[in-house]
Amino acid sequence: MKNKKEKMRFAVIGDPIEHSLSPSIHLPVLNRLARESDYFKVNVKKGKLEGWIKTVLEEQIDGFNVTMPHKTDIIDFLDELKGDALAFRSVNTVVSCGGSLVGYNTDGEGFHFSLKETGLPLKGSNLLLFGSGGVARTLAIKAALEGAKSITILARSPDKAKKVAKEIVSYGAEVHYGSLAEADYIGRDTNILINATPLGMAGMDGNFINFSFLDRLVKGSLVFDLIYRPMETRLLAEAKARDLGTQNGLGMLIYQGLLADRLFLGKDFDLNEMYQEIKLTLEGKVDR
Ligand code: NAP
Repeated sequence: MKNKKEKMRFAVIGDPIEHSLSPSIHLPVLNRLARESDYFKVNVKKGKLEGWIKTVLEEQIDGFNVTMPHKTDIIDFLDELKGDALAFRSVNTVVSCGGSLVGYNTDGEGFHFSLKETGLPLKGSNLLLFGSGGVARTLAIKAALEGAKSITILARSPDKAKKVAKEIVSYGAEVHYGSLAEADYIGRDTNILINATPLGMAGMDGNFINFSFLDRLVKGSLVFDLIYRPMETRLLAEAKARDLGTQNGLGMLIYQGLLADRLFLGKDFDLNEMYQEIKLTLEGKVDR
């Protein structure tokens, strides 16, 4: 066993965490760009963050990623928030700087990098967002911060959509909200549709009742499904059949991880090369 100080040590915490792909994203980068590193998965139950933070400080863990259900609760245990985490009030990356814990959120920027691959800018776009959960809220704020023209949030619980809409209204975008059942009546100016619900995810029984809302989208529009298992959901297949652009959630997943590694290492390395390598590895894993 090597001395603690010789290796950099990182982790991802959440519950459940067993199926997390995070080690496959982070280890190749950390091992290539830093000295030999450890990156382990830790199951931390809701309400048990205090014990984890004690471990981080005692064991001098260099940083960790945060996933469900801790992205908001972790804030109480941090010394500072930086970047998008300040607006999101949600953290997916924590860096330990000599015992001081700094929280960041790379989800919005990860989404933005993946969207850039499609050639569509967030600035000036008319977004339709399905879902009002943690990620939908994060992306709605990110889109508003990046200058989206309008953001429509449709969710099965319209009250939750309203709550997110009210929160982002102050950022200057035109904001609408409603029920998922109203998807057929979306405006023709929508050019990016994002699915931030688990509808269509492998292992989930439910799916969209029909896909007629896609017929409202004009040519050149993009359908972005945040799901990456399967890589092509029924939503994306239906969008392709209508000649619409498509993007799955794998790119966002990888980019948010690479951006977290930049923070862990304090290095602005070029993302492209690592991105392609990790994408190939993950495509093999998620499509099995
Ligand atoms: P979340 O906080 O649990 O929110 C889920 C949203 O989906 C809520 O609005 C929820 O509505 C809605 N929903 C759940 N089941 C539904 C159903 N049967 N019909 C209609 N709506 C339903 O989850 P999240 O963290 O935001 O994640 C949302 C999706 O994004 C998931 O599919 C997740 O896998 C994906 N994701 C992808 C990435 C990536 O990097 N690609 C990262 C994070 C998440 P209620 O509030 O009414 O329950």
